[in-house]
Amino acid sequence: MSKTAAVFNKKKFINDVTETVRHMYRKQLKEASQQEIFQAVSYVVKDVVIDDWLATQQAFDDQDPKIVYYMSMEFLMGRALGNNLINLKAYKEVKEALEEIGLNLDVIEDQEPDPALGNGGLGRLAACFMESLATLGYAAYGCGIRYRYGMFKQQISDGFQVEVPDNWLKNGYPFELRRPEYSYEIKFGGYVRTEDMGNGNTRFIHEGYQSVMAIPYDMPIVGYDNHMVNTLMIWDAEPKEGFQLDSFDKGDYNKAVEQENLARNLVEVLYPNDNHIQGKELRLKQQYFFVSASLQRAIARFKKHHEDIHQLPEKAVFQMNDTHPTVAVAELMRILLDEEGLSWEDAWDITTHCVAYTNHTIMAEALEKWPIEIFQRLLPRVYQIVEEINRRFVLQIQEQYPGNNDKIAKMAILYDGQVKMAHLAIVAGYSVNGVARLHTEILKKEQLKDFYEMMPQKFNNKTNGITQRRFLAHANPLLADWVTAHVGEGWITDLSQIRKLAPYADDKKAQQEFLEIKHQNKVRLAKYIKEHNGIDVDPDSIFDVQVKRLHEYKRQLLNILHVMYLYNEIKEHPDMEFVPRTFIFGAKAAAGYKNAKLTIKLINSVGEVINNDKSINNKIKVVFIEDYKVSNAEWIFAAADVSEQISTASKEASGTGNMKFMLNGALTLGTMDGANVEMYEEVGPDNMFIFGMSSDEVIAHEHNRDYDPMQIFNTDQDIRKVLTQLVNGFYSPNDSELFRDLYNSLLNTHSTQYADTYFILADFRSYAEAQKKIMEYYKNRSAWAKSAILNTAHSGKFSSDRTIQEYVDDIWHLPKVKVDVE
Ligand SMILES: *Cc1c(COP(=O)(O)O)cnc(C)c1O
Repeated sequence: MSKTAAVFNKKKFINDVTETVRHMYRKQLKEASQQEIFQAVSYVVKDVVIDDWLATQQAFDDQDPKIVYYMSMEFLMGRALGNNLINLKAYKEVKEALEEIGLNLDVIEDQEPDPALGNGGLGRLAACFMESLATLGYAAYGCGIRYRYGMFKQQISDGFQVEVPDNWLKNGYPFELRRPEYSYEIKFGGYVRTEDMGNGNTRFIHEGYQSVMAIPYDMPIVGYDNHMVNTLMIWDAEPKEGFQLDSFDKGDYNKAVEQENLARNLVEVLYPNDNHIQGKELRLKQQYFFVSASLQRAIARFKKHHEDIHQLPEKAVFQMNDTHPTVAVAELMRILLDEEGLSWEDAWDITTHCVAYTNHTIMAEALEKWPIEIFQRLLPRVYQIVEEINRRFVLQIQEQYPGNNDKIAKMAILYDGQVKMAHLAIVAGYSVNGVARLHTEILKKEQLKDFYEMMPQKFNNKTNGITQRRFLAHANPLLADWVTAHVGEGWITDLSQIRKLAPYADDKKAQQEFLEIKHQNKVRLAKYIKEHNGIDVDPDSIFDVQVKRLHEYKRQLLNILHVMYLYNEIKEHPDMEFVPRTFIFGAKAAAGYKNAKLTIKLINSVGEVINNDKSINNKIKVVFIEDYKVSNAEWIFAAADVSEQISTASKEASGTGNMKFMLNGALTLGTMDGANVEMYEEVGPDNMFIFGMSSDEVIAHEHNRDYDPMQIFNTDQDIRKVLTQLVNGFYSPNDSELFRDLYNSLLNTHSTQYADTYFILADFRSYAEAQKKIMEYYKNRSAWAKSAILNTAHSGKFSSDRTIQEYVDDIWHLPKVKVDVE
């Protein structure tokens, strides 16, 4: 019997939980609250995990593998308890054991806060990657920030989004371990003094700075059934003990107070912007803080096992998730130059063989640029190093393109008073990857064209993926069991095996079973909606779902305008054929993003009118699910019939929500954007609904500036009617001007943007046609079931296991680690 199974002997497990409740709360099990039971169950599970965690560390020490450090400002982990049980292969046993003593694992899991240390797709990708790395047996550390407040909780009040702080640590978090023995000092501000050391050497001494201590909290990342437990290290900030200052500043009380405040503010909150920068000084401080701490810990670990720092690239790779951790380039240089005493050439050689960069977006407003003034004041020594990297790179440009100043303007790291983080990442990184094939091609042809011409060998694609352990095994146990019954359980660690479902797509019994499972998942979601929204939705209606961050490029506005159009159609033609539809939305908007927040209000206002119009016989329902996050997402994917992936072509780098829906047997309604293109390739034209302009067409219009939405408004009376309803009080009787800004965004050119920047009106007709096809298709239950099964069956490519294996083969070159447990 394997060790894990032995520990999850039911009797022993119940005994351990009972004892833990006694010790922690001085209570008997029957007196304990659900939260207390959650804590106790989690401690018992963590106890098992810790044995494997120690064994993994031992394996690292023995086998000395190369380690990837995945550096990310965001890790959108979701709850740990359920997933850890799945990966320990103990979920069912624990569920049964708890049932035997009258406890419900679902209720206990629901006590766990979602550690929401991320915004959306980018942070969730980091979480999926960590899980896949552990499951595949690769040594990895996630490096991030332990925000005291993660992504805000969203409440909907009178249809408007209200942001509520997410105090996720208030009850204590059982799956973390404070590691003060790995604390490091991080320095900000001050100035650099140079000392001539003779024979041409200079020493750089940083003085007059403020500093904080970085304290890591380690979270276990449990691999599936392999005893491997990797580590997510997230950093907390604390003031240096007892108002201590470096000797230079002794007695400077004000500075001591400032230092206290710096530590308090540094990790207080996650910036809630997705695909948009907010150039705040505190954000740069956060970046440097976790990057410097992570590098110091990584190098300390390396030096414990190795003499020669020149071998660092053989044992460590730092993957930068977007440009947020790019200051790592200069910080690693600083450590190698100033602390290890290497020459510039040696330090640069090591750095450029250790760092790699993932690009996540082509949108200008998401490209990080820091004013030199801020950067230099905050990080004086690091800035000197960036200047030198830039000086040498500009020389290289001049050599390759003599007299071409345009190239310098477009590619320099320092230009126009700004530090361009993407340029720094590309110049230093030995790999630059996009996150879906189309996205990578657009990078090479458009945004990063000059870099691609100069260093084509760096560019590569790694199409994103998702972990099937969370998004099928845990999220949809009914379907997971059904898949296992048909193709065996190999899919859990090798999703390509799910292809063996395809022959069942034509099987009537299989279709029936598949539809029944989908129905049960819809009932589960309908109950959630009834409880949370007070709205009755019919599980026999089409569940048409768009859940993702609220962003204009994702075009929730297109979706809701189409709902408004459908409603007009039903009112005008009450007898027309219509399959009842439930339109489900879930989305958080960045707190300062006006049009995004107004779109949430519009969705709720449209719902208010339509849901209460008895005359349409429940043909349409509109539901906005409050506080979209990983835990409720899992239920939503399982229940979806239609997956809305309707971004303006070229704007969504990959998307990963699209993949979760596909895995759970939803049919995609989408544009040829991001990973949709590759999903289409896998599942074929009969099982996916594509509409709208291509990315080439969008890009051509952007170059030519020849798109005129007003022409569409003037010639299409259905569109005109819908847009007019935005400003005539139809959905806002108390304030007909409420939605004016949305109306204007579609029709008026403003100083910074063209009208209808995201081509909503251009794609509207094509979208409406595709929606009509979906309604027709849904009536043929057998055809629909076949397509749904084929979606699940063809989702194999979109496992993050596949993505990680490609990173390992092409970029990281990691060996597999074998964890032995006696
Ligand atoms: C997968 C996921 C996302 C990303 O969704 P996209 O549709 O790819 O933007 C965002 N938030 C949560 C909670 C997710 O699970």
